[in-house]
Amino acid sequence: MYCSKCGKEVKADDNFCPACGQKIEQEYKFETRQDEWLTGTKIGEKISNANSSPIYENATIILGVFSIFCFLMNVLGIMFVHLLGIGLAIAALILIKKDKQNSGEFSTVGNILSIIGLTLCGFALVYGMFIGILMNT
Ligand SMILES: [Zn+2]
Repeated sequence: MYCSKCGKEVKADDNFCPACGQKIEQEYKFETRQDEWLTGTKIGEKISNANSSPIYENATIILGVFSIFCFLMNVLGIMFVHLLGIGLAIAALILIKKDKQNSGEFSTVGNILSIIGLTLCGFALVYGMFIGILMNT
């Protein structure tokens, strides 16, 4: 997109033109993004999806909670459930990335929960392999 004052090209996430300091209007940015959606690869995507979608938000929170739950189940002795937890957490992070690309926003809670889930289940995986190696030697 281009600055409305001096015509120099500006990045879509710039708030001010780097050349002349003209404020880049949010409305203008939004219009540009709609144009990009219509003309670019995102044809068919909902234009109304301008804010963090509640579906994405709920999905990432649920996936994040389940990945933490998987870690707890693994601690309680259920084998391999932490692998599922890693999968769920990665799925949540992919959804968050997609949501961020689509709407510029994402669920902070879902993000934190899935990172915690991924960290815990990743820890369980490394710990499990470590114990496995110890038992084999
Ligand atoms: Zn300018």
